[in-house]
Amino acid sequence: MLKCVRCGACRSVCPVLEEVGWESAGARGRMLVAHGILQGLDVDDGVLESINTCMTCGMCKQMCPAGADPIDVIENTRHKLVMNGNITTALEKLHERINGTGNSLGDVSDRRAWLDKYTGSIKETAEYVYFVGCLGAYRYPESLIAIFDVLSHFDVTILPDEVCCGSPLIRTGFNVDENIAHNADQMRKVGAHTIITSCAGCHNTLTESHSDEFEVVHVSEFLVERLSELELKRLDLTVTYHDACHLGRWRGVFDAPRKVIEAVCDLKEMKTNRENARCCGGGGGVRTGYSDLSLALAKKRLEEVPDGIDYLITSCPLCTKNLIEGGSDTDVIDLVELVRLAME
Ligand code: SF4
Ligand code: SF4
Repeated sequence: MLKCVRCGACRSVCPVLEEVGWESAGARGRMLVAHGILQGLDVDDGVLESINTCMTCGMCKQMCPAGADPIDVIENTRHKLVMNGNITTALEKLHERINGTGNSLGDVSDRRAWLDKYTGSIKETAEYVYFVGCLGAYRYPESLIAIFDVLSHFDVTILPDEVCCGSPLIRTGFNVDENIAHNADQMRKVGAHTIITSCAGCHNTLTESHSDEFEVVHVSEFLVERLSELELKRLDLTVTYHDACHLGRWRGVFDAPRKVIEAVCDLKEMKTNRENARCCGGGGGVRTGYSDLSLALAKKRLEEVPDGIDYLITSCPLCTKNLIEGGSDTDVIDLVELVRLAME
């Protein structure tokens, strides 16, 4: 907190501040609010809104000339608030859903239902595990089938009893030790050395939680090394690519998705891209707690889609969801769905 010299440089990059307009909705303001909480500031709805509307997109951290880490401050402040019982109803429900059902949607149906097509062919042990993620399993089964069709060319399996990686809870201030321990135990049973992810939030959280024991790679990093082993044809398509914050700015995965895309079709960049890409509006629990703000930010991101595009490609189901619900005129599909098209 004390590293912040209040220069205000972060004001020029925070998408939430741009949308909301109040100082308390940007990194500098949130740092002051967090400092105030430590000094005994009463936690009212305005304070909760200031701390909880950060998408953890990382733009401010990336450009802060003083080397401050506003996200670290915000996430630690969220944790302090949660520990003290200062929690919004939306976050309380998210916590209950994940604890009660093992997934962020509170869905009680079978997490592996999308695997019906592969009955009898899922390996019990393998070198690689594809970590499916909650949103994919319950909302985008067709996307998962495309991904698993491609990954089935390699020694890849699925965890027998995967639970939420914990990303939505960690980002909003909760502990998820049980989820982390459960998934690690499942990994050991399968005997895999590497976790493959296709969700930016899962990728970042699994890297934070498991990389001392397992290698964690995004599916684009896995595939870019193996493109020659897939019989890919060239597609007569031009697509654009949305960098997910937790995959791009947080984990530095910028090149692999682009190389995979360029192996099968033409790529035309969005107005802001790579390190400077705007957030889709979905991260940091904002989609859960402040959906109007989240969708307004998705619309802003969609204004950056170039003309003459066949598909808007993402590498994260939460980005997919938010961009679709934000009103995308262009079809939004996962990167590996594009690869699957090139295999037909
Ligand atoms: S967080 Fe960094 S960029 Fe923002 S006001 Fe503080 S010192 Fe300046
Ligand atoms: S992480 Fe993103 S949303 Fe949060 S304060 Fe920084 S720039 Fe704003």
